[in-house]
Amino acid sequence: MSRIAYVNGRYRPHREAMIHVEDRGFQFADGVYEVCEVRGGRLVDERRHMARLTRSLDALRIDLPMSLAALGIVLRETVRRNRVRDGLVYLQVTRGSARRDHGFPPAGTAPGMVVTARSLDPARGERSAADGIAVITVPDNRWARVDIKATSLLPNVLAKQAAREQGAREAWFVDASGLVTEGSSSNAWIVTAGDEVVTRPADHSILKGISRAVVLDAVAALGLTFVERAFTAKEAQGAREAFVTAASQIVQPVVRIDGKPIGDGHPGPVAIALRREFHRHAELS
Ligand code: PLP
Repeated sequence: MSRIAYVNGRYRPHREAMIHVEDRGFQFADGVYEVCEVRGGRLVDERRHMARLTRSLDALRIDLPMSLAALGIVLRETVRRNRVRDGLVYLQVTRGSARRDHGFPPAGTAPGMVVTARSLDPARGERSAADGIAVITVPDNRWARVDIKATSLLPNVLAKQAAREQGAREAWFVDASGLVTEGSSSNAWIVTAGDEVVTRPADHSILKGISRAVVLDAVAALGLTFVERAFTAKEAQGAREAFVTAASQIVQPVVRIDGKPIGDGHPGPVAIALRREFHRHAELS
C-alpha cells in the first residue's frame, strides 16, 4: 500500500508530496511540529497536543491555516488513508512560502502545512522496553526556547547520531551547571534510592512533553512520590532507575548512562509500572 501525505490542502502519494523550495520551513526551519501517538486507529491525547501546537504557533506568531476542528479531520483522514492502527501522526506548520528574506514574509502569506502518518510495530516497542535502552550525555548547545516545539532540531539531530554511533538509543543534554535538561527527543526521569520519581521543571529549558503530563497522572495514581527538580548525570548514574518519555516511546526504561549500568542494569519496576499504566491516563479520541 502506498503512503499518502497531506501537503497544503491536498492528499498526495508520498513520492509526489513536495513543498516549494521557498517554503520557510525548508529555508529557515521557520515552523513548528507535533507528533501524536495513534493507538487502535485513534489519536492519543489530541487535545493536549493541539494546546501545545497553539502555544508554539503563538510564540512564533505563525497562524494555523485552518481551525483546530478542521485540523482534527485532516489528522484522522491522514491516519485513515495510511491505514495506521498503531503508529504516529506527524504535523508541521511553517510560516509559508515567500521570496527568501529573514524577516517575516508579506502579510497574507499562507502558512504551510504537512501531515504524515506511519505505522509502528507495537511488539518492537515492547521488546525494547523489556531490554531497556542505553543513553549517552552531551552538552546542551540548543537555543534558550526549546519549550517551543520548533522544527529547528540540528543539535538534537547531532546528539541522536552521537548516541547511535556509541551504541545508545538516546542522548541526554546536560546544561552549563551539569544538570540534565532532557533527551534529544524525549524527557528524562530518574527514580531515587528514596523511591522519589524525579524530573526537571518544565520551564524554557525543556519541551513540556505530553507524555510527561500523562506520566505525572500515572505517578499520582500509583501513589508514588513525585519531586520536580533537576538532577545531574552523576546522580542519574547512581539512581535506582532511569527512564525517558515521549509520544513515540511512551515510557522507555534506561539501563545504562555513559556506559554505567543503572540499578541492576535491567528495567526497573517503577518504569515498567508507569509504562503499563500509561494509556489509562491518556485520552483517546
Ligand atoms: N523533549 C524533546 C526534545 C522532544 O523532541 C520530545 C518529543 O519528541 C519530548 C521531549 C517528549 O514530548 P512528548 O511527550 O510530547 O512526545
